[in-house]
Amino acid sequence: MVGYGHPGGGLELGRETLPWDPARSQERIGAAAGNGERGTGTGGGDTLGAMRCPFCHRADDRVVDSRTAEGGAAIRRRRECARCGRRFTTYERVEDLPLVVLKRSGSVEPFSRDKVLVGVRKAAVNRPGLDERTLARLAATVESRVREDGPEVRSEEVGLAVLECLRDLDDVAYLRFASVYKGFEDVADFEREAQLLQEGRPLEKTTAPKGVGE
Ligand SMILES: [Zn+2]
Repeated sequence: MVGYGHPGGGLELGRETLPWDPARSQERIGAAAGNGERGTGTGGGDTLGAMRCPFCHRADDRVVDSRTAEGGAAIRRRRECARCGRRFTTYERVEDLPLVVLKRSGSVEPFSRDKVLVGVRKAAVNRPGLDERTLARLAATVESRVREDGPEVRSEEVGLAVLECLRDLDDVAYLRFASVYKGFEDVADFEREAQLLQEGRPLEKTTAPKGVGE
């Protein structure tokens, strides 16, 4: 039973067998960075540049949480000010490349996610599955899809991307949007589109006809 009762014995053994001690190396990084400018230049994962606190305006914070947002298009960081202790949020995004939409009229305008949202919102009225968060995600998906064909896309392509997204989400909203986008003129147009919608996706397996096995 030699070794039992020796406080920290196991820990010491563990430490000896570790070729590299993360805890110690962390200390060294901290010490090396202690020459005035905190958190700059070491290139370590936790040593992001400080942001100016929106409350007390001091640029001295630590990141308390970091996660992806907007479907991977952004990184959201919660920061805590070292001076006043209050927390604030920053977002990191890829700098937007210009994306422009060629309209039917021949005019050109910058792509606007908000414009997509306005159109989709009308189609989504009273559709319980299509809350604002879902619509915002849809608009972001539409943007990333048309960006693949950028930097110039036709307005029709934007509309088609919206339709593709809606088709997977909500049949009614899809048909509403299609009616505007495709300029439906009568009920027959709706019926034709509804038919296409049915054919265009794998039909969910329905249960066996009622009455069988009874
Ligand atoms: Zn502060």
